[in-house]
Amino acid sequence: MALAHNLGFPRIGANRELKYALEAYWRGEQDAEDLLTVGRELRVRNWQQQKDQGMHWIPAGDFSYYDQVLDTTAMLGAIPQRFGWSGGRVDIDLYFRMARGRAPGSEPAEACEMTKWFDTNYHYLVPEISAGQSFSLASTRLLEEVDEAIACSIPVKPVLLGPLTWLWLAKVRGGKPFDKLALLDRILPVYREMLSALKARGIEWVQIDEPILVLDLPSTWQLAFAPTYTQLTDIAPKVLLATYFGSLLENLPLACKLPVAGLHLDAVRGGDEFLQAADLLTSDQVLSVGIIDGRNIWRSDLDKAVNSLRPLVAKRGDRLWIAPSCSLLHVPVDIGQEDKLDAELTSWLAFARQKVAEVVTLAEILSVGDTLPARLQQQLSENHQVLHSRRNSSLVHCADITDRAAGVDDKLAQRQSPYRERIEYQQAQLRLPPYPTTTIGSFPQTPQIRRLRQRFKQGELDNENYVAGIKTEIAHAIKQQEALGLDVLVHGEAERNDMVEYFGEQLDGFIFTRKAWVQSYGSRCVKPPIIVGDVARPQAMTVDWIRYAQSLTDKPVKGMLTGPVTILNWSFVRDDQPRSETCLQIALAIRDEVQDLEAAGTRIIQIDEAALREGLPLRQRDWQSYLGWAVRAFRTTTSGLADTTQIHTHMCYSSFNDIIAAVAAMDADVITIESSRSDMALLDAFKDFAYPNDIGPGVYDIHSPNVPTVETIVARMQQAAARIKPQQLWVNPDCGLKTRTWDEVKPALANMVAAAIELRDAPKASSPTTIGQ
Ligand code: GLN
Ligand code: ZN
Repeated sequence: MALAHNLGFPRIGANRELKYALEAYWRGEQDAEDLLTVGRELRVRNWQQQKDQGMHWIPAGDFSYYDQVLDTTAMLGAIPQRFGWSGGRVDIDLYFRMARGRAPGSEPAEACEMTKWFDTNYHYLVPEISAGQSFSLASTRLLEEVDEAIACSIPVKPVLLGPLTWLWLAKVRGGKPFDKLALLDRILPVYREMLSALKARGIEWVQIDEPILVLDLPSTWQLAFAPTYTQLTDIAPKVLLATYFGSLLENLPLACKLPVAGLHLDAVRGGDEFLQAADLLTSDQVLSVGIIDGRNIWRSDLDKAVNSLRPLVAKRGDRLWIAPSCSLLHVPVDIGQEDKLDAELTSWLAFARQKVAEVVTLAEILSVGDTLPARLQQQLSENHQVLHSRRNSSLVHCADITDRAAGVDDKLAQRQSPYRERIEYQQAQLRLPPYPTTTIGSFPQTPQIRRLRQRFKQGELDNENYVAGIKTEIAHAIKQQEALGLDVLVHGEAERNDMVEYFGEQLDGFIFTRKAWVQSYGSRCVKPPIIVGDVARPQAMTVDWIRYAQSLTDKPVKGMLTGPVTILNWSFVRDDQPRSETCLQIALAIRDEVQDLEAAGTRIIQIDEAALREGLPLRQRDWQSYLGWAVRAFRTTTSGLADTTQIHTHMCYSSFNDIIAAVAAMDADVITIESSRSDMALLDAFKDFAYPNDIGPGVYDIHSPNVPTVETIVARMQQAAARIKPQQLWVNPDCGLKTRTWDEVKPALANMVAAAIELRDAPKASSPTTIGQ
């Protein structure tokens, strides 16, 4: 008999109850007890629901008031010094101060850094460690939640983030770098204490997550697994070691030899490794196969899953477990809430609740043998119908689009002349001063702008009045930029709420849900578009706005688009064709827009690729292939242009040393990039690599309300000029300004323009590199 279990359920709530409770607490409108009550209700509801659906083992510890990595940090008492913790239990306000830098009624402190959880769009709080640090059990929240579950008669399987993954993700802060593994022996006693406490409660299974097993691990880390798990298992309930997000490759034999009672593998991203594992594990070990995709929103092919698992059933009996590939944290809660979507389309989708049902159905089918009871037979045939309708739907397939994409080759993805020549033509036409100034695209999204868009969406405002309202905002932005003396202007993006949604809404092949929220971090959720079919652009999306903006000024106004890789990486994508194929279709749609902008007289077009880097595969051996198609997609958007049209791109991160060659291969004429937060550390990339095109290293951090001084900006640009030829340099902020107010933006940009003027006037001594070739 195969058993159904789950690795984790979305914690935010079908109506984002947790978000609202958290934010009310942070604003001081509710007390901690109210927040804890909402948390408890959510947990109990999620457990009960999974139990009613027929899950055999149900996770606890997948809930969190902010982040599961921070929960582990709290459990270990790894509280950075600046929070002034003097031992004892970590209370909710200390917890929130670590997460957000502040909490009701306590002193602010610098929050912990946040970064992306593997290759997902979920962000965790980075643990901080120092040499010789000590650890102690400082939070027993997991035990309390397990007690709650037991009290509700839930067959509970507590989940812990494993010690090796926690340590791997931790950052050495302050002091010299050291071998993080040296701290392992200090951490394990805390895990032992927690695990014995769970065992004392009669817990049969715990799940310990070690997703780093899907990464390229140094041998010292590989070697640490066996001794670690030897130390943990003797006092613990039975341990199911869980890995996800990829295949284990060289780590598979080692994982299969660990002294644990079971192993979970991701059978969606990890291919058929589970078949190898079935041979490597002993017959009394559990093999958990994560065959339902926990990262995407499509109904599964149940027949296919049954066929691949059937051979294992006879061999393993109830030592075969069926699960989602990873925690369901990464998908929305319930498709049942989408009452406005087309019914056929809705039938193709499965969110967390539907995925739980699929896991249960699969386990049941595998358990009953060849003659299925009518109920299961009906579920299978309904599944057939759904897959058939999707496979053959005209909402999905359009031959013209696939033919066009098939015709793209390297030659088509090539601009007419090399950058060296293009930049001459562009300069002859644009006549920009040295150190030209520009911004990244958006200007403050004032409450007035938001209201305007909202009223239009809700039908309170007709199109004519909406367009007039946005035009007023554009005119305001242009006027401000002219007054500030910027060289290349933008229209300000008042008409956009989100850089992906805005385009997705106008492209064929995308659908939007009303409530399909996924947690991004803390209380923050995103509602990614779903790419259901072949992508095309029925009509121009931005041309009228840009044309209007340009009509108000003699300075060049940049067209402003989101790039294909970013649109892809921030959406739920099709699983019936490779990502690269979908990306190319988006690229062709953006290419059409780029060409329409050029035809409308736009001389500069920016195509943002904010998410190019975050799409990098987890294993280095897969990088080249990803970067290859991603770069080609970008180039496809621009290659049809005249040499005189200048292409800008923008990226929101500074750590691009490892992908700099690919970034250069995108062949944008100008790239603007984040760099001030890392104090221009980005410039290190240019030690070994001479970036060939123009570049604007962001000179101030737009995430902070502080106004940068002229001197700081000049100093930063001089630092840049020591590495990059001054004639390649642009002066711009780090990122878009939509989250700031005009009161913050105006003085900051005034100083930026003043700094550029100072740089232009400065004697050449301020630019140590020789100018010219
Ligand atoms: N053009 C966008 C803006 O200025 C870019 C945003 C981003 O890089 N995330 O808001
Ligand atoms: Zn940015």
